[in-house]
Amino acid sequence: MIAVLKHGTTPEQTQYLVQWLARMNLDVHISEGAEVTVLGLIGDTSRVDMELLGSLEIVDSVKRVSEPFKQANRKFHPNDTVVQVGDAKIGGGNFAMIAGPCSVESEEQIIEVATAVKASGAHILRGGAFKPRTSPYAFQGMKGDGIKLLLEAKKATGLPIITEIMNISTLDLFEDVDIIQVGARNMQNFDLLKELGKTKKPILLKRGLANTLQELLMSAEYIMSEGNENIILCERGIRTFETCTRNTLDLSAVPVLHELTHLPVMVDPSHATGKAKLVAPMAVAAAASGADGIMIEVHNNPSCALCDGAQSLTPAQFDALNKKVNAVREALV
Ligand code: PEP
Ligand code: MN
Repeated sequence: MIAVLKHGTTPEQTQYLVQWLARMNLDVHISEGAEVTVLGLIGDTSRVDMELLGSLEIVDSVKRVSEPFKQANRKFHPNDTVVQVGDAKIGGGNFAMIAGPCSVESEEQIIEVATAVKASGAHILRGGAFKPRTSPYAFQGMKGDGIKLLLEAKKATGLPIITEIMNISTLDLFEDVDIIQVGARNMQNFDLLKELGKTKKPILLKRGLANTLQELLMSAEYIMSEGNENIILCERGIRTFETCTRNTLDLSAVPVLHELTHLPVMVDPSHATGKAKLVAPMAVAAAASGADGIMIEVHNNPSCALCDGAQSLTPAQFDALNKKVNAVREALV
């Protein structure tokens, strides 16, 4: 981090600031020019409040020269992280297809969808049990009973399962869940992230509706700072001024994140587009962008789905999508 001091700062004022920084365990390199003095802060600057430093009377400007995320940073961990769940691996050249309904609705529904997506080649089954809905009057999910049905589908098909957590008080219910999803709305629920960091469970962390990639990485850092390094990042579209799609799929997030971090990066084209007919083209594009996996919502009867029917694919549509994605992946190597 670099702090540029205002013209006219006295040596005493500079020394006072240097001592203030030293109390934060930072060494300071002072470079005195004819016009301005520049301080180079050496040490762990991730705890420095840039705004506070910048607001000091004698400070003209402050600039970060290294990223505040350390454990997620590729600079300090050049090799790709590979997250393993059951037989499925994600990252480091391994690709996983996650598929299943937005919400678990009944035993018949989840078993039917699980069997179908497995037959088409999906590696992991998804299904929401705790649903973060915009309206409190909308279907909120089957909660604990939904997780039980997912576990039945896991037993019937052998597919590992992923489902979303909304509140840490329900963590016990996730004991046999293979990947815990943190949804877009909870990306910055820091208490939740910290508690999940104390577990060893793989976590799929979705990008918030209006969050930058740096903020996504800082949220991953919250989980990692507590000891859990099994994190998969997921781009699921962000809010823009565009209204033709539910969100705007920021596919450049995939190569950008691959450069910044060693963590695997998945894409969810279902929530990004909100429309079933747009899901396959964007899944194909996600595969081409180098994603380590894709998550697709599939329902046995989309028109009757209790949640996100408009963006859900039928099993037959998913089968066609998966073939296209595989073809793209083969073309890339
Ligand atoms: C979901 O995957 O079911 C979901 C709610 O996604 P998001 O958090 O991305 O909206
Ligand atoms: Mn959904």
